[in-house]
Amino acid sequence: MRGSIFIVSAPSGAGKTTLCRLLTERLSGIRHSISYTTRPPRKNEVHGRDYFFISEEEFMGMVRRGEFIEWAEVHGNLYGTSKAHLFEIVNSGMDVILDIDTQGARQIKGSGLEAVFVFILPPSMKVLEERLRKRETDPEEVIQRRLKQAKKEISDYTMYDYVIFNDELEKAISELISIVVAERLRIKRVDHEYIRREFLK
Ligand code: 5GP
Repeated sequence: MRGSIFIVSAPSGAGKTTLCRLLTERLSGIRHSISYTTRPPRKNEVHGRDYFFISEEEFMGMVRRGEFIEWAEVHGNLYGTSKAHLFEIVNSGMDVILDIDTQGARQIKGSGLEAVFVFILPPSMKVLEERLRKRETDPEEVIQRRLKQAKKEISDYTMYDYVIFNDELEKAISELISIVVAERLRIKRVDHEYIRREFLK
């Protein structure tokens, strides 16, 4: 059976990267989709593990050939999810998690592809601001720009099926795992052939 698709979005500072990493570490049968990006790799990032790092020309070639299920410009760089990569994972029976922004989530929603949409929020705006400040040594105007961007992303939250408040990491990860597990127990995902053979013949 095909795996399920989980879309996870959050404003930066909500702790999404950590939650997505813990999800695949603690639960089997689910993998990250690896996006294509024109952003240069950060220290410790590996091509083919964190992202496929490509040039803008290569990226736009993939756009023209219709190879992305969604793509968007985020903070001045291009990011996209390859159809081939995504379907290779779900067709192998694995669930997949797409860590993408709200523009990308909207495109997936519009494509009619069945997916579960999860939005992660920090407990409050104050905490989000503290997290952005702690993490950055940037000037005030950069912090203000990020906060504005965060507000814009949060304004899209009603498009999602679930909201997780990441106030306490262990609670938030168990909630994220619960969402994936609940999806696996849906009637449409059970092995009907087994139930018929085992209980109903
Ligand atoms: P970063 O550059 O910090 O890894 O990611 C920046 C933002 O881009 C994050 O919000 C992340 O969710 C988003 N992003 C990463 N990959 C994709 C993608 O394939 N499509 C879209 N739409 N957003 C992505």
